[in-house]
Amino acid sequence: MSDIRPPRNVQRTLPSRKRIALVAHDGKKGELLEWAARWRETLARHALTGTGTTAERVSRTLGLEVEGLMSGPLGGDQQIGACIAEQRLDLLIFFWDPFSPQPHDPDVKALLRLAALWNIPVACNPASADFLISSPWLDTVYEMTIPDAGAWVSGRTAD
Ligand code: PGA
Repeated sequence: MSDIRPPRNVQRTLPSRKRIALVAHDGKKGELLEWAARWRETLARHALTGTGTTAERVSRTLGLEVEGLMSGPLGGDQQIGACIAEQRLDLLIFFWDPFSPQPHDPDVKALLRLAALWNIPVACNPASADFLISSPWLDTVYEMTIPDAGAWVSGRTAD
């Protein structure tokens, strides 16, 4: 199999007010709600989005504004992946359930792949989310590198 890689990276600056996506599989929604309750004041300073059911439950339980996308099995994970590819998301809190096969497993894998590709910080459980949300970079701009999408296309179309 060919090993295709982007030719080079470019800088991306994350804003001080982060755009954070919240996603939890059904078996993990309780854990996410507990975690979000502990960090409510911190989360309130940032722009929150999430898959439909997760967003609705966090919003209703904690009184936070959370933009609700489609429910995960209906395409919400793919919507978050699109935000990542378009650099419209800065952090991903994704409590996926290691004990439960999901009908949308391909979408889950695709989302995690895009997060890895685009250098998005991801937390998959309460401890990793604690570390991520308490980072000194949460409330400041953060410089990072992402693949150079323009160079990628040029490299594949040059003849
Ligand atoms: P939900 O989707 O928040 O709509 O339950 C989460 C998921 O299963 O990816």
